[in-house]
Amino acid sequence: MLQLQFWLATILQTCLRMLPFPARTGLVAIGEPGPESPVLLTCNFDLTVRRVKRALRGIDCWLLVANSRGVNVWCAATGGLLSNHAVISVLKTSGIADKVQHRRLILPQLAATGIEGKRIRQQTHWQVVWGPVEARDIPAFLAAGQHKTPAMRQVTFPWLRRLEMAIAWAFPISLVTALLAWLLWPQALWPLIGLVWATSILVFLAFPWYERFLNGKQKHTGFVFFDFGRFGVPLLLWVLVMVGLTGWLAWHGNLTAEPLLRGGLASLLVLVMVSIDLMGSTPLYKSGLHEDRLWEVRLDVDLCRGAAFCEDVCPRDCFVVDRERRLATRPRADACVQCGACIVQCPFDALSFVTPDGDTISPDVIRTYKLNLMGQRAQRAA
Ligand code: SF4
Ligand code: SF4
Repeated sequence: MLQLQFWLATILQTCLRMLPFPARTGLVAIGEPGPESPVLLTCNFDLTVRRVKRALRGIDCWLLVANSRGVNVWCAATGGLLSNHAVISVLKTSGIADKVQHRRLILPQLAATGIEGKRIRQQTHWQVVWGPVEARDIPAFLAAGQHKTPAMRQVTFPWLRRLEMAIAWAFPISLVTALLAWLLWPQALWPLIGLVWATSILVFLAFPWYERFLNGKQKHTGFVFFDFGRFGVPLLLWVLVMVGLTGWLAWHGNLTAEPLLRGGLASLLVLVMVSIDLMGSTPLYKSGLHEDRLWEVRLDVDLCRGAAFCEDVCPRDCFVVDRERRLATRPRADACVQCGACIVQCPFDALSFVTPDGDTISPDVIRTYKLNLMGQRAQRAA
């Protein structure tokens, strides 16, 4: 019965993933934890909380659920919803300090774009440890003495996850499609819904192909097929399609409202699907809408002390820290998705972004201004 509930909730929350699903915040005891048991923290997106709890089955530990307004870790941390304040608040109000004797807090690595480890330490005296990207790696991470392998640090996008994202996009768009088709073209309702699902699934399943195709050029070219800028270009394309369709119908002596409306609806659907920036909805690619995709991370070697926080939080494994020289290097800089996590976490402000015009975006700006889903930065409370 519990399994059935788990899967039904998972299906619902996958289909409606764009909506927040808040779980109860606070402290959860997993197994029979004691004063030396590890303390982990996650967001309060219900799907994430259930997955983390499932990954932790059989381990005695404490789980803190922080308020991210029901949004997943990556989006909430990047957008300022899973903030320093949310972490400090749950540490202070949950009673965890009375339950354990240590002060080590394991945070999800993907929260490193928004939560400042240094600030949490200064304000609460809890030491922050960045856990693995995937919840399923937590048992191995704990068993290895809270040590992450390079593979645990990297974001991957396996086919099952891609399928999940395809469903998350296709479901709400097919609801809108069903409504429009019902009003304008009832006979084509199912073919149009099929078109939406097929486009979404094809886009996501073909991701490895884009990656090979882009091959490190993405920061200069944007996302070739899907970077249509804001809204002007898709609209212009649609107008061109409609002009072509009108000409074709006139040529065949069938210029009536009905085929125009139907052709307009089908072409609009395809254009919407390929221009809503599906790639940018993953932690693996920078959105074509975000101007930051053109920025580069700059390392000031004079400020670097080899603290290796950058290496620990980079989801693309861009850094290697030379422990002897106490200096960071970026041998895989081309893989950067400009998430800013390394800049947010560097305790010596040795990292910053540089724009194509040569302007420097300082660490303070990156820490203060959060990205919304349209790629616009807005100041958010810390
Ligand atoms: S860049 Fe910053 S975080 Fe990375 S090794 Fe240097 S001092 Fe440490
Ligand atoms: S190097 Fe790029 S991908 Fe890696 S943490 Fe920094 S900004 Fe993010």
